[in-house]
Amino acid sequence: KNEIQRKPEWLKIKLNTNEHYTGLKKMMREHNLHTVCEEARCPNIHECWAQRRTATFMILGDTCTRACRFCAVKTGLPTELDWKEPERVADSVQLMNLKHVVVTAVARDDLKDGGAAVFAETVRAIRRKNPLTSIEVLPSDMGGVYENLKTLMDAKPDILNHNIETVERLSPRVRARAKYERSLEFLQRAKELQPDTPTKSSLMVGLGETTEEILAVMDDLRANHVDIMTIGQYLQPTKKHLPVEKYYHPDEFKELKEIAMQKGFSHCEAGPLVRSSYHADEQVNEAAKQ
Ligand code: SF4
Ligand code: SF4
Repeated sequence: KNEIQRKPEWLKIKLNTNEHYTGLKKMMREHNLHTVCEEARCPNIHECWAQRRTATFMILGDTCTRACRFCAVKTGLPTELDWKEPERVADSVQLMNLKHVVVTAVARDDLKDGGAAVFAETVRAIRRKNPLTSIEVLPSDMGGVYENLKTLMDAKPDILNHNIETVERLSPRVRARAKYERSLEFLQRAKELQPDTPTKSSLMVGLGETTEEILAVMDDLRANHVDIMTIGQYLQPTKKHLPVEKYYHPDEFKELKEIAMQKGFSHCEAGPLVRSSYHADEQVNEAAKQ
């Protein structure tokens, strides 16, 4: 049985590319920058880069010290810390004329500060060059060291996003070195540090979780004052990664979104192709309205 053949209709999309997109890709290589949009071969790349003017940069190198079993980022010994990266990201945000930028990073468990100083400097550099661009940060738990989170929050991002990824029971299998409880605490602490900054978290479904377990994640996130939630279909990046246990129907996503809104999230995106950074520009606007 071939994974591609089993995919339901709503997940079969054609990657739409044009010259604008090709030019941007070239620019990324020239600047030695990495985007999740490209690395994860995100199906939304055309819509995000060209129409919504959103992109997700992955900083601190392209090699992660962890190996989560759903993630396509390469694992290994990371490269040196590059202090020039923040300026290059800021320049690219300007060249791409982005309205909203998401900055994420590989987990740098090899560094004492988990990469927090360069991460924070990237936020500041983007802000200096692009005062009108909203900035969302999407860190790992940075080793669960809250001093690192504080370093990042001090740079005043517009949204703090940290992904819970999966339900509590499946966390040890799916996320290797991260912990469910630690992620909740991380989100809670971010809120304590900057109460006015919206917090956000994403869940992948299709890894074998039950509906009750999904609802429990919603409750846990709300109990830790998370404002925004996204829910998307897990897709297996390669045969070596965890298999897909279930493809949720678009109607099921709609129901999950309704439940999330009832539970008090200010915004919820839920759908087969929803990714952590999908339609993130709208969420900033929503958050600003509150
Ligand atoms: Fe990039 Fe996120 Fe948009 Fe995908 S949804 S193209 S990862 S910004
Ligand atoms: Fe991928 Fe992040 Fe896990 Fe690293 S920590 S393997 S980048 S999900």
